[in-house]
Amino acid sequence: MRKKIVDLDKIKITCSCGGKTKKIQTTWKNIPVRAWKCVKCGEEILHPLDADKAMMIAKAIQNKEFSVKVRKVGKSFTISIPHKLAKFIKLREGEIANWTISSEKELIIHLSK
Ligand SMILES: [Zn+2]
Repeated sequence: MRKKIVDLDKIKITCSCGGKTKKIQTTWKNIPVRAWKCVKCGEEILHPLDADKAMMIAKAIQNKEFSVKVRKVGKSFTISIPHKLAKFIKLREGEIANWTISSEKELIIHLSK
């Protein structure tokens, strides 16, 4: 029997309504994922690999695995990035992190890749 490995990025997916789909970038619980969107009914079918990763990240957030204590180093403060999170965003040493402040309770980091 012949066995074939399917490249999910190349196969055409048809929605359960019969409509054609197009590849899109979307989010699930604010986590970026690849998906196929039906041009007929608008339903989004998440990429299974990205859906697995997103579920792992969502679970880690829920379990407070990404909650870290702010530490002081001299006059500055330091916040570590947990390994699982760094791996998910493919963080590399030497990248430049740019801060944006949205409120006193929310900081946003933009990475220069
Ligand atoms: Zn559809």
